[in-house]
Amino acid sequence: MDKITIIVPCYNESESFPFLIPALNDTMNKMKEQEFEIILVDNCSEDDTLEFMRKAHADDPRYQYISFSRNFGKDASMFAGLKKSTGDYVTVMDADLQDPLDMLEEMYKFLKESDYDCAAAYRNTRKGEPWLRSELAKAFYKLMGSISSSEMVSGARDFRLMKRPMVNAILELEESVRFTKGIFSWVGFKTKWFGYENKERVAGETKLPMKSAFTYAMRGIVAFSTVPLVAASFMGFGVCVVAVIYLLYVIIKQLILHEAVAGYPSLMCVLLFGIGTILMVLGVIGQYLAQMYLEIKHRPIYITRETSMSEKKE
Ligand code: UDP
Ligand code: MG
Repeated sequence: MDKITIIVPCYNESESFPFLIPALNDTMNKMKEQEFEIILVDNCSEDDTLEFMRKAHADDPRYQYISFSRNFGKDASMFAGLKKSTGDYVTVMDADLQDPLDMLEEMYKFLKESDYDCAAAYRNTRKGEPWLRSELAKAFYKLMGSISSSEMVSGARDFRLMKRPMVNAILELEESVRFTKGIFSWVGFKTKWFGYENKERVAGETKLPMKSAFTYAMRGIVAFSTVPLVAASFMGFGVCVVAVIYLLYVIIKQLILHEAVAGYPSLMCVLLFGIGTILMVLGVIGQYLAQMYLEIKHRPIYITRETSMSEKKE
């Protein structure tokens, strides 16, 4: 009998829980042949999320939970879940039921009978999402695909069923700045993509506002590509070339025409352009340095405050 682990990262999801638990129960009832383990990960929610988790565990011991000492973010939750998981097959899903849980059986059957290591879902529509956000997201995946070696499918979800070897490979990457979508593709393995129509959140509001989506994108680029550093160097070089040419022009003009230096506007242009470029390049370098700093500290990826699972398996 195969064991399937479902990991659910949660942050202030008490509104989703009344829908989440029945949906998970339905799935487990439908797939009676398989054993299940549900790992609910609480990011130190401010509402009753943890209460719901304790209750779920008390009602049915297949539900386990880990509660963090603060919000370490969805990527840390996924790492914690994967680390604690004991299933032969492991999947991650959102608490808001935006992931197509009804496809789990199909994915499982597919993996069972095939040579693939992972069955992953991607949205073939972004219906219901704000226009600007979905356009920016699409642009991000396109950019990511072209500047990093990891292939990233647009609309890819974290909802994917993976076989144990792939999970173990992911766990070997212990970096603290975790961009899970990049990690999924970086480890490789054979992935089969399943398309589905975007669904709206079942209850509550998105926990990933535009601002953090932007930070997330920046983190992803820095973690999986060094192209911006190269681009920054090229730009710096380009500016230098322009500056030298202009300097020669100024000198020659002065030698021939003996004009007094009257070029205040042009001087300002060059100065501002130069400073702007330098600051931008420094900013790019700073991003990499910051990420290196975070990695070098080797801080734990998450801290557990309360859990229903034994601590030994850490
Ligand atoms: N989430 C989390 N920690 C956070 C933000 C989100 O664990 O800091 C969880 C959230 O509870 C949900 C999942 O990650 O289960 C996806 O978040 P959300 O639905 O808000 O993101 P969206 O679908 O809008 O991208
Ligand atoms: Mg969502």
